[in-house]
Amino acid sequence: MKVSVDSDRCRGHGVCVALCPTVFELTDDGYATAPRGQVPAEHHAAVTDAENACPEYAIVIE
Ligand code: SF4
Repeated sequence: MKVSVDSDRCRGHGVCVALCPTVFELTDDGYATAPRGQVPAEHHAAVTDAENACPEYAIVIE
């Protein structure tokens, strides 16, 4: 699984960071990133939860 955050959509709610802080981070600007790209298997469920919970549909899973 690979994940990224669409910076055009992200509004910085931080739901993703709350659900999976290992994968998502908030930048100094207050928006989310997923700097590692590749997601270890043990975090797949949390990343999918974050994708479903993001109110802006900004999380992209490949
Ligand atoms: S939950 Fe969505 S909108 Fe909120 S910070 Fe994360 S990616 Fe951005």
